[in-house]
Amino acid sequence: MKAFDLSGKTALVTGANTGIGQGIAIGLAEAGANIVAVGRTPANDTQQRIEALGRRCVLVEADLSNCAGVEKIVDKAETELGAVDILVNNAGTIKRNDALDFTEEDWDTVMDVNLKSLFFLSQCVAKRMVAQSRPGKIINIASMLSFQGGIRVASYTASKSGVAGLTKLMANEWATKNICVNAIAPGYIATNNTAALQADEKRNSEIVGRIPAGRWGSPDDLSGAAVFLASTASDYVHGTVLAVDGGWLAR
Ligand code: NAP
Repeated sequence: MKAFDLSGKTALVTGANTGIGQGIAIGLAEAGANIVAVGRTPANDTQQRIEALGRRCVLVEADLSNCAGVEKIVDKAETELGAVDILVNNAGTIKRNDALDFTEEDWDTVMDVNLKSLFFLSQCVAKRMVAQSRPGKIINIASMLSFQGGIRVASYTASKSGVAGLTKLMANEWATKNICVNAIAPGYIATNNTAALQADEKRNSEIVGRIPAGRWGSPDDLSGAAVFLASTASDYVHGTVLAVDGGWLAR
């Protein structure tokens, strides 16, 4: 199991205060990593749970709707916990409306967080890995809508399809520099983001009925894949989009 050990590694996780980001941050800490939790809401609960594991967790406040602050985020991470070995681009948002009525504002809000900040934060971290000749791991959080079209979520589908494309592009350019770029595509996971769907009895039973595993995923279900993609166990894995979806895409 040594290949999965993350002891002494620094992992920067965006949106680690709740949901999937929290589950992944705690999973990486359980495997040994210290965590930089980046987001606009302080990840106090995540910090407490990581410190209880005997790892360090530093909070960095940042609104990722604007990518101008990425250098400062990485500077702060390096000052507090040393060079970033693992980046998890998890922070994401969604806006719902019919395609005929979709506004430019809702387009930009989603694309800026889900795609633009993801790219420029990855670029910033990768530049430093290359400059310091250090290997690294970048894990992007994609979606079922990296593969499917969805409905009433034009900018979300565009952003998550973009995440799958950019994951492959970055993998192609950085694989020879010892940086592995991959993505995890979660299926239906019970978080704040999907609370309304879970509460809607009809939609909930349609969704569960289509998932081969017969249940919603939990944020903990993502941590095994995250630890794998963050560790040396995945050193020859580049540009993959790994579905963790209870079998949704196989259906
Ligand atoms: P969530 O509980 O709503 O968490 C979203 C996270 O992103 C929160 O930490 C949120 O911070 C952060 N965030 C949003 N906008 C931000 C901004 N402008 N600046 C900084 N942080 C921002 O949802 P989740 O389900 O865990 O989603 C996490 C990721 O998984 C997202 O990329 C989402 O698209 C993806 N995903 C989720 C599912 C699912 O079924 N749940 C499925 C596929 C993909 P605040 O708490 O401050 O808002």
